[in-house]
Amino acid sequence: MGYAAGVTATPSVMALPSDPAQRRVELFPEATDEQWADWKWHQRHAVRDARRLAGLLPLTQDERDGLDETAAIFRLGISPYYLTLVDPGHPLCPVRMQAIPVKAEARVRPGELADPLGEDPHRPVEAIVHKYPDRVLLLATDSCSVYCRHCTRRRITKGGEAELSRSALERGLDYIRATPAVRDVLISGGDPLLLSDERLEQLLTPLRAIPHVEMIRIGTRMPVTLPMRVTEALATLLRRYAPLFVVTHFNHPKEITKEAREACERLVDHGVPVENQTVLMRRLNSDARIITELNHACLKMRVRPYYLHQMDVAEGCEHLRTPLQKGVEIIGELRGWTTGMAVPHLAVDLPGGGGKVTLQPDYVTERRPNETVLRNYRGEPYVYPEPEAQDCTCPYDEVWQRR
Ligand code: SF4
Repeated sequence: MGYAAGVTATPSVMALPSDPAQRRVELFPEATDEQWADWKWHQRHAVRDARRLAGLLPLTQDERDGLDETAAIFRLGISPYYLTLVDPGHPLCPVRMQAIPVKAEARVRPGELADPLGEDPHRPVEAIVHKYPDRVLLLATDSCSVYCRHCTRRRITKGGEAELSRSALERGLDYIRATPAVRDVLISGGDPLLLSDERLEQLLTPLRAIPHVEMIRIGTRMPVTLPMRVTEALATLLRRYAPLFVVTHFNHPKEITKEAREACERLVDHGVPVENQTVLMRRLNSDARIITELNHACLKMRVRPYYLHQMDVAEGCEHLRTPLQKGVEIIGELRGWTTGMAVPHLAVDLPGGGGKVTLQPDYVTERRPNETVLRNYRGEPYVYPEPEAQDCTCPYDEVWQRR
């Protein structure tokens, strides 16, 4: 039930999702189990050009145009594992939408920015973005196992923008060493877990040796796009640099496969906490039911849903952006209706570098002199009496600060 090129077909409402195990047999019959379990095999066999992709998957005309028109704009790259999650019979399969460009991606709409988070003015050295007072982003590589069509850092991941060489990383470490205010380092890129274990150690060892670096975070999509990368050896290595958090990026419950679950559980079992950040995308996951199912599935594998990101105003992403109100509505459909841990912060990274703010439904309906009226998650009114005493200073803090 695939699509012939140029044919706009409507998938049957009775269609079932494709089966990844079956797709592996169809797409990569030559791969042995040993090869399939080897992340480097997937890297070597990643689909990186339109011609090969068209040989593996019936593409829509929109996708063919998208592949053609974005070829000079942003890399194509899909790991064999992630490709088996793509539904060959539905153009709006959420994995497909994240992996295969469409024509709209080639268009830059008014208001869209190459550097939507305003990071470039805050790069004191090539590999560092220092935008917030106490934390920095360390750009470890410009490569990824899958090039997400919604990537907002594509000016870096398209390749060639930054020479994130060993010497650039050395200069990044020197900057952190010389900046005592930095207590939190987020290693990202690109995907830092594309570095070999040896390269990661070469990066993490000097970083952990910096006395003022309290915590390290690694931003990675590997548990989603290439979970085979999360080996016992990697999990053991990361644990040695605690407190170290892995921040991953599942966007749809379809991505939570047996392999992805094992990868996350391996990290957690080794003592590496895992958080999830989801990007809200129109017609891909812009529905409270989907976000609820995703977050429940994350919690079941001990991954904490952390942020639900409003899509940044990155070039070529408008077709995936939702109105701001959609995210607020989704949070309203989660808060109170399910476990608080399943309710992420709805974050908007303000265009141009203003930093993140969070949004939520407004539960305050009236402020009176001595009380506030709020509505609960069902919309029912409740009165919260304000205390008489209003002084909120903490006198013991003066003592505590002297320790
Ligand atoms: S893995 Fe992250 S950095 Fe790489 S393309 Fe996807 S969103 Fe961008």
